[in-house]
Amino acid sequence: MKAFAMRTSEDVHELGLYSNNCCNEELIFDQGDTFWRCPRCQSLCQWELESKITKDANSVHAAA
Ligand SMILES: [Zn+2]
Repeated sequence: MKAFAMRTSEDVHELGLYSNNCCNEELIFDQGDTFWRCPRCQSLCQWELESKITKDANSVHAAA
C-alpha cells in the first residue's frame, strides 16, 4: 500500500498534484516536466502523487 515516490530530476509521468517529503510543499507537475527541488528549502526531495488532475480541452482543473 506504499505510494510510489518520485525524486528530484526524474521525469513526471502523470499530471497531478504532488507533495514532497521534506517540507510538505504541494506543487502541480505536468507530464513531461521534471520534478523540482523543494521550493522551500531547495534540497533534493521526493515527490508523492496526492491527486491526479484531469485535463479537458485547453484548461486544467484540479480534480475534486
Ligand atoms: Zn523542503
